Parts: sequence; C-alpha cells; structure tokens
Amino acid sequence: MPLNVLFSAPHARWDVYAAPLRNAFAKLGLDVRLSMEHAPAEVDYIVYAPNRVLQDFTPFTRARAVLSLWAGVEQIVGNETLSIPLARMVDPGLTRGMVEWVSAHVLRYHLGLDLDIRRDDAAWVYRTPPLASERSVVVFGLGALGLSVAKMLAQLGFEVTGWSRSPKDVPGIHCLHGQAGLSDALKRAEIAVLLLPDTRATENTLNASTLAQMPAGSFVINPGRGPLIDDDALLAALNTGHIAGATLDVFRTEPLPADHPYWAHPNVTVTPHIAAETRANTAALVIAENIKRSEKGESCHNLVDRRLGY
Ligand code: NDP
Repeated sequence: MPLNVLFSAPHARWDVYAAPLRNAFAKLGLDVRLSMEHAPAEVDYIVYAPNRVLQDFTPFTRARAVLSLWAGVEQIVGNETLSIPLARMVDPGLTRGMVEWVSAHVLRYHLGLDLDIRRDDAAWVYRTPPLASERSVVVFGLGALGLSVAKMLAQLGFEVTGWSRSPKDVPGIHCLHGQAGLSDALKRAEIAVLLLPDTRATENTLNASTLAQMPAGSFVINPGRGPLIDDDALLAALNTGHIAGATLDVFRTEPLPADHPYWAHPNVTVTPHIAAETRANTAALVIAENIKRSEKGESCHNLVDRRLGY
C-alpha cells in the first residue's frame, strides 16, 4: 500500500519540492502519494515547514513522524499537539551554503575589505594584510552547521574555538562547552559566529555582560537566530566601538522593521535571512532516507530533543 506523505509548507514551496521529493522517493524505492491535501487520518508522514494551516497535529492519528524542511525548529518544537518524532533538517546543500556565507563574512572582517570597497578618496596607503593564523574566531554552536563552519575556518588557517552545550573533541579546533567554558570562549572571540539554536537556554547569549568580555574591536556574525542577541546591548557596544561591526542575518522580528536602528547603523550589515537555504534536491533525499528508516523500524536521523528544544 502506498504511503501518504503530506506536504505542509507555504504554497510556494510545493513547486520547489514536489518533483525532487517524488524523484527521491522513487530513487529509494518508496511507493508514496505526495500531496498537500491528504485527509489527516490517512497521513503516514508530514513534510513540514512553518505555515498557518497546520497548527494542530492531533487529527494525524496514523502519522509516524514530522520531517522538518528547516534546520531551526523553534516554531514547532513547543507545539503541545505534536507527540510523534520530529526530525530537523540536516542537508548537505544547506550546510555548504552556510559554510560559504560565514567564510565570506569572516574574511571580510579579518581582511578589513571594507577599507577598500568603501573608499571615497584617492589615498594610496599600503598596509600588510593580516594572516588568518593571527585571528581568533569562535563558533558558538558546534552542531551540523557550526562544526562544518569551524572546520572550514580552521582549514583557512584561523585559530578556531568552538563552544557547545556538551563536551567535544575535534582535531584542530579548541573545544569549550557549557557555562563554565563561556567566558574563555568570549575572551577569544575576535570574531564571534553564532550558530546556536533558538531555545530558552540560548536566549541573549550575547548580552551586555558577555559582549563586554569579548576583545575590544571585535566582530559579531549572526546567522543563527535573532533571540541569541540582546539587541539593545549590541547596539550600545557598537556605539562605543567595543564591537567594531556586526553582520546579522536573523532577527527577533522578520522582516526586520524598516525603522529598526540596525538598518541605519554604519557598522551593521543586515542580510534578509539568506545565510543558508535548504536545497530541494539534497534535502529531498534526506527526507526520503528518514521515511525509509522509519518504515524499517529504525529511528529517524536528526531527531529533535523536545526537552532541550533543538
Ligand atoms: P544543531 O542542533 O546541529 O547544533 C546546535 C549546536 O548548538 C550544538 O553544538 C549544541 O550543543 C549547541 N547548543 C545548543 N544549546 C546550547 C547551549 N545552551 N549552550 C551551548 N551550546 C548549545 O543545529 P544546526 O547546526 O543544524 O543549526 C544551528 C542553527 O542555525 C539552527 O537552529 C538555526 O537556528 C540556524 N540556521 C540558520 C539559517 C539561516 O539561513 N540563517 C539556516 C539554517 C539554520 P551540543 O552539540 O552539545 O548539542
């Protein structure tokens, strides 16, 4: 009997994902009826991205898992009507995009590229560019994305520290964890990259007190989630120059309101939540693989821990 897979995401996503999902199901030998309109009681799996239509999971009595198209699951993890397994997206295409986006912004700050790009005079002033080995970068969050980013930065020669909740041992990366390791991480953060999930424990990871522990003249890059930063504290640190610049891709309110001070701040770069995007062809295979595992009685990859919120 074919499996009924519900595609529950904003309508525009259907055109992007329908064909790649059907190809991936066929490739893995899964007989699937994919639709945006299955009757809830007949659904076996739900492919999900936050949307207004599906808020109540209780009618999905037969469903065996929700497979998120997003890596960040803060909009669904607390849904009390959801009791079946929830898998977040770990997609090689998305990871690759994040590695490229972060590397570009780290190199921009490290090399001081703005000095030349924004030059408005004819000053021919020679300077010796720094080497990556002279720059200490801290990646906050060493998960699927943070770890790949940290490894790439280490490969470029940066002195890389990673901070996570649980202890880690990664060759070439100085690993710190938990509250006990936070101060040490902050002191090393000439460039801080935030790749933490949005949970109760990570809210305001960068606040007045933690920003003050970063070296004077350091930089913040946030492709994680808006609530990781206390915005007033960051603006204050930018205004004193203690934080020399920030590149922010995610915000508490998105789109970022037109009158938000970040837009006008000379040392803030705003990007519209484009650091990394789930790529349909690679993500579809991840979804199909998880359904195949579940049908064999195995647990899905990348299950969310509801207690931790990620
Ligand atoms: P993972 O769940 O794989 O990794 C999360 C990391 O954060 C883990 O290393 C985890 O530690 C660490 N962490 C969680 N809570 C804490 C805490 N309280 N203290 C210290 N460390 C903590 O997530 P991903 O790497 O896949 O994604 C990270 C985030 O990136 C997503 O949640 C999402 O918000 C964001 N994102 C942004 C995108 C964009 O376009 N801007 C695109 C995709 C994702 P441990 O390893 O010990 O569990």
